[in-house]
Formats: sequence, structure tokens, C-alpha cells
Amino acid sequence: KPCPGFCPVSILSIDKYLYSMRLSDETLKDIMNRFRREMEDGLGHGTNPTATVKMLPTFVRSIPDGSEKGDFIALDLGGSNFRILRVKVTQDKKQPVQMESQVYETPDDIIHGSGTQVRALELFDHVAECLGDFMEKQKIKDKKLPVGFTFSFPCAQSNAVLVTWTKKFKASGVEGTDVVKLLNKAIKKRGDYEADIMAVVNDTVGTMMTCGFDDQRCEVGIIIGTGTNACYMEEMRHIDQVEGDEGRMCINTEWGAFGDDGSLEDLRTEFDREIDRGSINPGKQLFEKMASGMYMGELVRLILVKMAKEGLLFEGRITPELLTKGKIETKHVSGDEGLKKCMEILTRLGVEPSDEDCLAVQHVCTIVSFRSANLIAATLGGILSRLKENKGVARLRTTVGIDGSLYKMHPQYARRLHKMVRRLVPDSDVRFLLSESGSGKGAAMVTAVETFYCLLEPH
Ligand code: BGC
Ligand code: MG
Repeated sequence: KPCPGFCPVSILSIDKYLYSMRLSDETLKDIMNRFRREMEDGLGHGTNPTATVKMLPTFVRSIPDGSEKGDFIALDLGGSNFRILRVKVTQDKKQPVQMESQVYETPDDIIHGSGTQVRALELFDHVAECLGDFMEKQKIKDKKLPVGFTFSFPCAQSNAVLVTWTKKFKASGVEGTDVVKLLNKAIKKRGDYEADIMAVVNDTVGTMMTCGFDDQRCEVGIIIGTGTNACYMEEMRHIDQVEGDEGRMCINTEWGAFGDDGSLEDLRTEFDREIDRGSINPGKQLFEKMASGMYMGELVRLILVKMAKEGLLFEGRITPELLTKGKIETKHVSGDEGLKKCMEILTRLGVEPSDEDCLAVQHVCTIVSFRSANLIAATLGGILSRLKENKGVARLRTTVGIDGSLYKMHPQYARRLHKMVRRLVPDSDVRFLLSESGSGKGAAMVTAVETFYCLLEPH
């Protein structure tokens, strides 16, 4: 893009100002290697109990082969929306998967629901109520369709026990509890319909499974949205937590927790520390807080506040709006809306921006979102180089299934990520496959696979 006369100076000085957020290839390779060590710790028998990156076995042993069929319900909880889907998988060549879905509001007080046990269970009462409503509308309340549950949090998959809440969720009394039991109880209490919860699936797994239905080579699933995480197919012989050496099993890495043991301290900036201090889970999910959508707008806001305080922006004007947490949303950071829109957003904050201010702010947004893409390229690079080694091939040919609002909404994000991954893992042909509402649909895929092939171990 051509720059107006005043632009180069301010852009250059911002580059210098945010130097610590602009990660070199060398640093990214270093992060990639650190993450590979974390993965090994999570998989190893002696190291797993204290590992930061949990590497949870999912008991999903194969991706769909396209021969699945049936009528399923899928619940998708934990992303930017709570969604219920009806998924019909047929042998129809043209349109094998038919979907209808509905988004349900989930009030904040239910998500945060602290206090007594009774109150926390409201979250599952709410899910059960929405499911009842959905079945009513679909006229299937008298049927007992198999239900797949995409639950986008770390779960010990052998029994669906929630390890810890992340993102905006904090309903008490759920951590350490089997979420299938909680949901079944809520459904039974109502008594107006029956449901068979067949599988609880992390959204990364759902994404991998959905993309796997279309592309047999898919063996990685990643989410870059409100939160971030990845799963991939690991050799059974490397998974110490599960008996058996034959074949492969999908591992939910829970890479959002990368850095929680201090291993990313040299890369975290003052802004990252401030974000963490103000969050509902300080000290946790530190990688996620640097890279995912939930924190990006707030990161930009903190940078702008500091720059304004130092007189580098808005002629030093600081308004109560600019100082208000949450006033800049990630969708503002990731929009490719041009100068006019940027002007609008900043004007709403009352800082009376000049054209130069707008260009500068856009550049800050680019640096913050590119840092996210770079960081995720590094961790994904770690997974891909491990896959390559596992297969013992000179060149890795694979497909990565992706879902998540940040990846889908940001106009340059995908390109940046793809480019960086190819640079970090040069001997590879990686296909990135966007999964349309995959995280939810995937639960139906897993349910389908489970129903017909019994590939999952029972809870
Ligand atoms: C959760 C993961 C999830 C990811 C994306 C993270 O906060 O811990 O389980 O896959 O968000 O939704
Ligand atoms: Mg999702």
C-alpha cells in the first residue's frame, strides 16, 4: 500500500515502540521447540502429572471415512455462541451432510454463575431447556436421537470430567465433575423428553472430524476464536496415559495453557501481564491470552492508553471511554474496514483522532494480530514437525482443519498464519481447511463414528 507523506515516520516509530511484540523467525523457531518439549512432557508417564500442556487423550481413534450415516443432535457450548444443531448424515453424493441449527442466548450470570452449587447447575438446566425447545421446534420431542456434545473446555475424556473452566466461563461446582452426568440429570429433572448423550467432544476434535469427513488426510484440528487450542493424531505408542501401542489416538493438546509454568516469561509484555491480572483466571491460559480473540481488543486498548499517556497518540488526550475495559472489541481490531471505520470507532471513544492517529492505531492492530498468527504458527509448527517425525517422512503432506471467529473474520490473519507455518516447517505441504460451523457439526460426526463403529470407549 502506498503511504501518505507522514506515514513512514509514525509506522516506523510504532514498530520500534512495539518491538517486543514483533517476533523474529528465530524467536518463533525457539517457541516451536519449547512447545515440542511441552508436548513430550504432557505425553510422558513421569512428566504428565506436572505438565503444563495437558495433552488429554480423547479416545477418538480414527477420522470419519465418509460411510457414516444417521440423524443426530449436536450441542456446541463454549465458543462465541451456544448453538444446537440437527445433523443428518446420508449417503447422498451431492449433499451428504444436512444441517439445521439455532443459536441460543446464554446470559452472563449463568456463565459466571458463582456462589452455591444450586446456582452453578443453572448452566446445565439452561442447556437442557434450550435442547427441549429445539426438539419441540424440530418436532422430534418424542424421539430419542443420539446427542453429541461439543464442550469447548479441557475435559478428561475417558469420563468427561471438566478439568478447569477457561475463557468467560466460571460457573462453580462444575470443575472436577462429569458434565454428561450434570446434563443427564438436568434433562431427567425436566422429564419432557429423553436424550442419549453419546460423546463429549472438544471443539478442536469436532473441527478435525468435520474436515476429516471431506478430506481423509486431515489429522489436526485447531480453533482460533474466543479461545485457542489444537488437537492432532498421535501414535498410541507415545501416549503413556493410555494402554496399548497399536494405531493412533487424537490428543487434545490444550495449548492455551502453554506458558503457565513461566516458560514464556521472556516473551510476555507489560500488556500481557496487565491482561492477565484483570482476568477471571490469573496465571492461567497465558498463551491463550496472548493469541486468542477474547483478549485482542483489550490488548490494543492497553497499548493505546499507554501511547496516549506518553503523548504519542491523540495529542495526549485520554478519555474515560478509552480507559474503560472492553471498550475496544476484537472485531474492531480485526476488521478490514479502512480509515473511515477506524475514525468512527476512535471518535466514539472521544479522543478526537487525526488521520495520522488512525493510521497509527491500524498499525498497532496489525502488530497485535500478526503476533497472534505468528505465535499460533509456532505451536502449530511444533505439532506438524512432530507429525513429520512420527511418520518418518522427508516431506509432510497433511491437512489442518480450522475453525474460530478470529481466523474467519480477520482479513489477513489466515494468509499470515499459512505463510509463517510454511516458513517454520519448510518440508511440508499443508492444506488448511476451513470447517463451516465445524466445531458443532463435529460432535455429530464423532457420534456417528461412535454409533456405527464403536471407536470410542464408553464413559
Ligand atoms: C479451551 C479449549 C478450547 C479452546 C477453543 C480454550 O479456552 O480450554 O478446550 O478448545 O478454548 O474453544
Ligand atoms: Mg466453537
